[in-house]
Amino acid sequence: MYVHRGDEKLHTEYIDLGGVSPEECARALKKAGQIIRDGGLVAFPTETVYGLGADGMNEEACAHIYEAKGRPSDNPLILHIVDFEQVDEIAKDISEDARKIMETFWPGPLTVVLHKKDIVPDRTTGGLATVAVRMPSHEDARAFIRESGRIIAAPSANTSGKPSPTLGQHVYEDMNGRIPMILDGGAVGIGIESTIVDMTGDCPMILRPGFISRQDIEEVLGQAEVDPAITGRTMKKDVIARAPGMKYRHYAPKGQMILVEGEKEAVVATINQLSKEKEEEGCKVGIIATDETLTLYPDGIAITIGSREHPETVAANLYRVLRDMDEWGAEYIYSESFFQENMGDAIMNRMLKAAGYQVLEAGKE
Ligand code: AMP
Ligand code: MG
Repeated sequence: MYVHRGDEKLHTEYIDLGGVSPEECARALKKAGQIIRDGGLVAFPTETVYGLGADGMNEEACAHIYEAKGRPSDNPLILHIVDFEQVDEIAKDISEDARKIMETFWPGPLTVVLHKKDIVPDRTTGGLATVAVRMPSHEDARAFIRESGRIIAAPSANTSGKPSPTLGQHVYEDMNGRIPMILDGGAVGIGIESTIVDMTGDCPMILRPGFISRQDIEEVLGQAEVDPAITGRTMKKDVIARAPGMKYRHYAPKGQMILVEGEKEAVVATINQLSKEKEEEGCKVGIIATDETLTLYPDGIAITIGSREHPETVAANLYRVLRDMDEWGAEYIYSESFFQENMGDAIMNRMLKAAGYQVLEAGKE
């Protein structure tokens, strides 16, 4: 009843939590909890992006997540909790440092990789001996997890490979007919996935950059390293992907996306030249601009991704802009880049993947 099989379509109940009465809201959360306990899937908002949740201790339920997303099954899921005690149900040999950052940043956009207990099924962790755990701060996420009475395994609620969902509407586009329920909690706050830090080694190792930066972690623990697989501007194919998500094409729009890097004037000139050429060939061109440069692009359709002075706006708009480019049918997407900004690591990590690591240096042949 709750599981989508083959071409068969499920009825997807879509609840706008902000637009219904408190009673209706409570009814929806109750039903969502029941679906989880019955082994089904529920999409829900978090402060980072929308998640696609299942009972993390139910192997079959987790298998449905992979089916619904079309996700490779060796790509592990993050387990979402609401109480600190729950971490000891699923993880063991937790270091002092690990406890320290959990206490500092939870609830919030930090995922911690720990040694897993046997109770966690292999399906959930993609066969790894470690488990990734997060305690979200979003009120709807917390109410939903609490109501389910379970630990919730959840990746982002998008079709594998597509930009992550930052609006309920995005989840609907990807998951309608595939899951029994979508909880719409409005636009998410942060807009990019949680920072992932592996706390099973000698030094905290950042496997995925996010809103909580390396400096934030260093301030608490005195040290933190960034996995070599995610530093740099090119895909390092031979680096063993420790966060298995690293090795897959991700966040990608349908059009061919190129990042243009350099001084502002040179970037604008290069993007304008490329856009003009493609438009003359009859192609649809989308430009990812900023509040500061939006009026400088006469050709193609330019969309602002936010303000360079407020990089959190760029993070918040990133996936929506990529989806809007798809909606409009952009065949070529030329984007400004954000290597230099605060939070730039987390933003560029997603943009580089979306662009398949195609970076053009403006002003250079
Ligand atoms: P998503 O929820 O779509 O952001 O995907 C979850 C990501 O968490 C995966 O792509 C992995 O990279 C990462 N992850 C989950 N569990 C582990 C783990 N045990 N060790 C390392 N990375 C993990
Ligand atoms: Mg994802």
